[in-house]
Amino acid sequence: MRLHPVGFSHLGQVNADGIRYVWQLRDNAPYIESAAFRARAKIPTSDADSHISAYTTSVSGGCALTAAKVPCRFCRTGNTLRFSGHLSAKEIALQNVFMVLSDMEQIGQAAADNPREFAYMGQGEPGYSYPQLREAIRITNKAMSALGQKVHRHLLATCGVTEMIDAFMSDLENDYFNGTRVTFHYSLHAASDRGSVMPIENIYSYREVIQRLPRLYELTGEKSCVGVLLFKNYCNGSSTKSHCTDMKEIETIASELDPTVCRISLCEFNPCDSVGTNGEISPEEAAELTTMLEDKGFEVKLFASFGRQENTACGLLGGTMPDINTDDHILARYYRALSVIDAAAC
Ligand code: SF4
Repeated sequence: MRLHPVGFSHLGQVNADGIRYVWQLRDNAPYIESAAFRARAKIPTSDADSHISAYTTSVSGGCALTAAKVPCRFCRTGNTLRFSGHLSAKEIALQNVFMVLSDMEQIGQAAADNPREFAYMGQGEPGYSYPQLREAIRITNKAMSALGQKVHRHLLATCGVTEMIDAFMSDLENDYFNGTRVTFHYSLHAASDRGSVMPIENIYSYREVIQRLPRLYELTGEKSCVGVLLFKNYCNGSSTKSHCTDMKEIETIASELDPTVCRISLCEFNPCDSVGTNGEISPEEAAELTTMLEDKGFEVKLFASFGRQENTACGLLGGTMPDINTDDHILARYYRALSVIDAAAC
């Protein structure tokens, strides 16, 4: 196994938000991150939210979109880290199992019984790692079962790689996931001039993704989530153009989507000084955007960002050093996770 833990940092005051784990594929390679959150949503919208432990997992070292010269313009990983390779299925599953073992050991009995939610929203575009990812989901499920843990769901995210969506739909048709809930998240973020925020739009148009949402609804029985980051005059350092998630932009997004097959999550955006600048959308403005979408028939969730204090994006910090280095205790947990993974992969 190439992937090994380097250390961890707390997110939020006194670890209020969660823990960011830092990994490496080999000495001198850029750091890879995953994150374990205290709860699924920072502001729980239901009682269930606070009883589900949520994890963000990386599928590669850095992002393949960086190597292809089309990183998302707002992304710290895509703009500050070099791509150091795709992770194997076992390396993806290892992050999941290690983080769950950490929570089982550290948080105590209540959280030890929490259902687990794994979101593939760490470093990397999952659309370019789907063969490993589908196998990692299978290994993780077997590992969780061996540890006596419940899987709430896996969350498959993409910026729009349609070949991956087609492969995922084929797996759903063939019940590859054996009944485990695997839901779909589309990182749309913009509709008018999306290519200036997400250059991958010039390869995979958002309309090609949107036209697949009805079939995904039929196959999963639930609405896909469409993610929209709340930008306020966001300006990437290399561009003079700014982007704003204002009423007009939200109206454009709403006009492209069908509320019977998707729901929308509006997410607070944490800018990173080395990548770009952003104003702040006030709670009142965010509430107005939410109401407008709800009036058009959408289910909407407004997400506050974890790790705001550290300016993280989904708990990630662009591969910065961890605050606490690996010790014997962490290594022991790593070796335990490896043996669980090896048994599950058989
Ligand atoms: S947001 Fe995701 S897909 Fe886009 S550059 Fe960053 S890591 Fe890659």
